[in-house]
Amino acid sequence: MENWGIVGYNWLVQQLQNAVVEGVLSQSLLITGPESVGKHTLALALAQALLCEAVIPSQRPCGKCSACRRTASGVHPDLRLVEPETPGRGVKIEQVREMERFLSLTPNESAHKIAVIADVELMNSNAGNALLKTLEEPPAYAYLILLATDADTLLPTIVSRSQHFPLRPLDDATIAHALMERWGVEEAQAWRLARLSGGRMGWAVRALTDPTHLQAMEAALEKLLALLQMDLPARFELAQTLAQNSADLPQLLEYWRLGWRDVLLLQQANPQELMFLEQRAALEALAARLDVASTMRMLRTLTATQADLLRNANTRLLLETLFLDWPE
Ligand SMILES: [Zn+2]
Repeated sequence: MENWGIVGYNWLVQQLQNAVVEGVLSQSLLITGPESVGKHTLALALAQALLCEAVIPSQRPCGKCSACRRTASGVHPDLRLVEPETPGRGVKIEQVREMERFLSLTPNESAHKIAVIADVELMNSNAGNALLKTLEEPPAYAYLILLATDADTLLPTIVSRSQHFPLRPLDDATIAHALMERWGVEEAQAWRLARLSGGRMGWAVRALTDPTHLQAMEAALEKLLALLQMDLPARFELAQTLAQNSADLPQLLEYWRLGWRDVLLLQQANPQELMFLEQRAALEALAARLDVASTMRMLRTLTATQADLLRNANTRLLLETLFLDWPE
């Protein structure tokens, strides 16, 4: 199981490995979870397990053979990664049809053919129905791995035809220890990244390798602080701008939620778990200006907005309503 390289989710990985070894894996799998929780990583590890050249089934994925290496880099000829051409938009019907053609030809090298389809919740109904057709009668050697944030937002027929593997956020300790042991991160930084990640291993690893991740987070808090200084017309204008870049919105709102959480921690004189260490002074000023009840209301309305966004409600209207409620 170590060869899967997955942090956490031991029971789930064990279940997948058993199913692969016994040859009873469902041909349609649905992996759900928040952005950067590790859905792609798990899908690729599963594809490795199916395509690996190791002779003994229980040793798949070996991580070393040519098939494992090419699968990890997404270039195995029996693997197809289907991703939206435009971020924030779903995979198009033409891409689903192309995937169908790919699956209809027998495997090149291995016994299987695998298609991984990202952001299934963003597909329009035409593309979704085309996908459903493939799910109904896949060729015997084919596996479809669907990735989505939330099963509730998908066509029920897609969910009912798939075996569902939900990835819930991990606890801070699992992420912090993995960062220390596997990536050699020093302890304080490992715990900070673990808290910032919101339980999402993929986020923590990307924050390590790409410093713009942490910069984006700080920029998000700057935006929050600026917003609180704005009058209503300026807030509505910002709502419009943000609604136009709706792909970035879930991450922005999550950073804002962490910002309000920091304000609440400061109000309760509990600063050990602060996320935004660099902006502590500004957050302390905010904590002093507001009472605990208002901060909790901010957190509640923000969490509700995050949930409404997943349901594809009117983004601009949601943001305007949210900003109306925020203090000046
Ligand atoms: Zn292998």
